[in-house]
Amino acid sequence: MSSVIILVDSVGGKVSKATAELATFGKRLGDVTAVICSSDGASLASQLNALAIDKTITCTGVDFEKLSTGAVASALSDVVAKEKPVAILIASHARGKEIAGRLAVRIESGLITDAIDLDADLIATQSVFGGSTTVHSTVTHGTPIITLRGNSIEAIAGTGPTAHEDFAVTYGGADRALVNSLAPAIKGGRPELTEASIIVSGGKGTDGNFAPVEALADALGGAVGASRAATDAGWYPHSFQVGQTGKTVSPQLYIAAGISGAIQHRAGMQTSKTIVAINKDPEAPIFDVADFGIVGDLFTVLPQVRDGVIAKKS
Ligand SMILES: Cc1cc2nc3c(=O)[nH]c(=O)nc-3n(C[C@H](O)[C@H](O)[C@H](O)COP(=O)(O)OP(=O)(O)OC[C@H]3O[C@@H](n4cnc5c(N)ncnc54)[C@H](O)[C@@H]3O)c2cc1C
Repeated sequence: MSSVIILVDSVGGKVSKATAELATFGKRLGDVTAVICSSDGASLASQLNALAIDKTITCTGVDFEKLSTGAVASALSDVVAKEKPVAILIASHARGKEIAGRLAVRIESGLITDAIDLDADLIATQSVFGGSTTVHSTVTHGTPIITLRGNSIEAIAGTGPTAHEDFAVTYGGADRALVNSLAPAIKGGRPELTEASIIVSGGKGTDGNFAPVEALADALGGAVGASRAATDAGWYPHSFQVGQTGKTVSPQLYIAAGISGAIQHRAGMQTSKTIVAINKDPEAPIFDVADFGIVGDLFTVLPQVRDGVIAKKS
């Protein structure tokens, strides 16, 4: 049976939800080999037992933490040469896309980024131009490398890998000078924005008071997002901005409170499965993309929703 490689993704030393989603896509293509390129290799390998993965390969011999994306791309290219997979799947965040780009150059293969679906014939689906256009594409040269957006698929459970291999890799460091300068994400008690199943976002309508937005997010176990108007005003950190110049998210549930729904904001959240808009202006464009709309004051509506959620839980 053909095999597909997924790059194990982690956040703060924990295997991320994206890894389970990559494995689920991978199962459509064949046996899944999960490749670990991390200084936490042993710990990550021990966290893969409930995933739809057939085999793991832990790359050893280089300090991935120090060397960053160039070393990961180099290690992956060695694994690809050995395993000859039908495809390589990588999580579609900034780091994942950087690794994918470097890998594509190294193995001279085509690359598709930000896919939201992938079928058994290796046809990837992308949602572009703010969600207004759906593109289907396939790689025609080399071993397809595809980065997949988080929350694009319901991850299936598995019985974990039945085989494990340590694979010694080397790294010449030719592209070490290009180590990226991304700032580490600000960590809090809430899920990572791009991984969250539920996001409650606040905009200019909050007038700088994100307390009801955060309170509802916490009641739902979700993440907090913000429009650019809110981040530009300094009400919420830029790392929480959703939209064209912020994060692209695709949660199961996106609640937009006091956000007008400008095209640049919609570009980052339009592929959410269910969108709920709360806005006191019934003409706000956000209602055009919303599945459910509440015309009202967010300072009245959000606490009511939160109370309802808490009452339902108890
Ligand atoms: C190149 C470029 C890139 C951009 N990138 C992004 C991006 O990544 N993300 C992004 O979000 N924007 C982006 N923008 C900005 C975007 O065009 C909008 O200006 C921005 O999204 C507006 O934010 P907002 O909806 O919070 O504010 P507004 O458009 O001012 O809307 C506020 C809304 O809140 C409602 N409201 C007010 N008070 C209440 C209340 N008490 N209760 C309920 N509703 C209330 C109002 O009716 C209004 O609809 C970009 C713009 C450009 C030019």
